[in-house]
Amino acid sequence: LMEAICDNGPVNGTASHAGTSGEENRFTFSPEPSVEDIRRMQAEFTDERDWNKFHQPRNLLLAMVGEVGEVSELFQWKGEVAEGLPDWSDSEREQLAHELSDVFIYLVELAEKCRVDLPQAVLRKMALNRLKYPASKVHGSAKKYTEYKD
Ligand SMILES: [Mg+2]
Repeated sequence: LMEAICDNGPVNGTASHAGTSGEENRFTFSPEPSVEDIRRMQAEFTDERDWNKFHQPRNLLLAMVGEVGEVSELFQWKGEVAEGLPDWSDSEREQLAHELSDVFIYLVELAEKCRVDLPQAVLRKMALNRLKYPASKVHGSAKKYTEYKD
């Protein structure tokens, strides 16, 4: 029955199922472009415009925070929003896709200009997070790691 109601087909970006947590029902991203593809495309965009002189780390950080503000604006005054954004119009969803992309593009360029290899850094940080929050200890709890006792 769930399949009949929820099956949106195999196309990436459409298989969203609000309120479910099983891996088989998870929303998934397209495999491409990679983070490195995105870094390279943004580097080309910046080079072609001779904008590297403006794109120092601090400026990129501030630009990214500005874009986070633009994401926040889309959620402002809406109250709690359910997973999958069931009540949003197509145009609101597209706006959100644009602003999240702006945040991500600046994040990737900031990491590049700071010489942080972001995909590898994410792997290292996730390993640390797993150590800090062992699933057996924290399952279903939102406590901070400092509140846990061994
Ligand atoms: Mg924007």
